[in-house]
Amino acid sequence: MIPQADPKAGYLAHKAEIDAAVAKVLASGWYILGEEVRSFEAEFARFVGVRHGIGVANGTDALEIALRALGIGPGDKVATVSHTAVATVAAIELVGATPVLLDVDPDRYTMDADELADILKREPIKAVIPVHLYGQPAAIDRIMQLCDAAKVPVIEDCSQAHGAMLGNRQVGAFGRVACYSLYPTKNLGAFGDGGIVVTDDADLAKRLRELREYGWRDRYISATTGMNTRLDELHAAMLRVRLRHLPADNERRRAIAAIYDKELRHIGKPLVGAGVTHVYHQYVVRHRHRDGLRARLKAMGVATNVHYPMPVHQQPAYAGRVALGPKGCKATEALSAEILSLPMFPELPDEQARKVVQAIHSCIQLLH
Ligand SMILES: *Cc1c(COP(=O)(O)O)cnc(C)c1O
Repeated sequence: MIPQADPKAGYLAHKAEIDAAVAKVLASGWYILGEEVRSFEAEFARFVGVRHGIGVANGTDALEIALRALGIGPGDKVATVSHTAVATVAAIELVGATPVLLDVDPDRYTMDADELADILKREPIKAVIPVHLYGQPAAIDRIMQLCDAAKVPVIEDCSQAHGAMLGNRQVGAFGRVACYSLYPTKNLGAFGDGGIVVTDDADLAKRLRELREYGWRDRYISATTGMNTRLDELHAAMLRVRLRHLPADNERRRAIAAIYDKELRHIGKPLVGAGVTHVYHQYVVRHRHRDGLRARLKAMGVATNVHYPMPVHQQPAYAGRVALGPKGCKATEALSAEILSLPMFPELPDEQARKVVQAIHSCIQLLH
């Protein structure tokens, strides 16, 4: 079976370095918020091109403390998309705010900037969370123009786009603050849960650090009410190893995508915007017989996945009560029935990517 993702292969590719990093932490006697976390925060912030990094326990917490640090809470409306990991929307409700779910651009699958322009005129939106989905930047230049003009802070959800760029600037360096999940299958993944928030704003960074650990300014003295969402030394040490390999890993993802781009026929392929460096967290194709195609591929030994099979606004926890933008979510609903994520991870050999292409071509013939 060709897997759709393979986090274990990511461990084996750098086993000696990762094992050494783990052994060093275990022997150090310091396991929470120490030298490894501080170094990882500084190295990751430098990689993105901003000044401050705050390591946290997962991507959902990263979004939650970013919202709280900006003072977003009950009664506040926050615009994002329905076509995202449910975590983006869950974080908005965790701080007591109200999500407003916009549709996506039907070609790029990221926030429809025209709809954002419209809703910023109609409603008192307190923050906007664009999601750089699948490794491709959202229309972040246009989104920043609109939000700057409306004086609304932007929180970038970069959980699928570690290292993606628009022009020569990385995602995560556009908004007021940016949030990353470091879940094992992300482009930069821990071997467990992890997350990081980055910002150029020193005051915001200070608030984020306090919120991460009980609102402490001085140890044991809560200056504000906070939470516990610390990143462990063990994870930070392993993430520092993986961060050194991230540029090469992203290059490898692009090389696999280039094979799919060049060789796949009779199926909808990703459209990449001008000036964009896509990092292919997922390579997502589109076909109107998606479920049949997926079942046949599985029978032929090719695992696929669907990110995501049901838009957030249709899921039982949200259906009928969550607010949508003025256009509804027609593009989101249409694409969620047709999208399919192909095998994509840095250790996937070229010949396996070619096998995936051949399997798709023979399945499509059978479907017609
Ligand atoms: C993975 C992901 C998250 C959530 O991250 P966790 O670490 O699982 O909490 C949030 N947003 C997006 C877009 C994601 O892909």
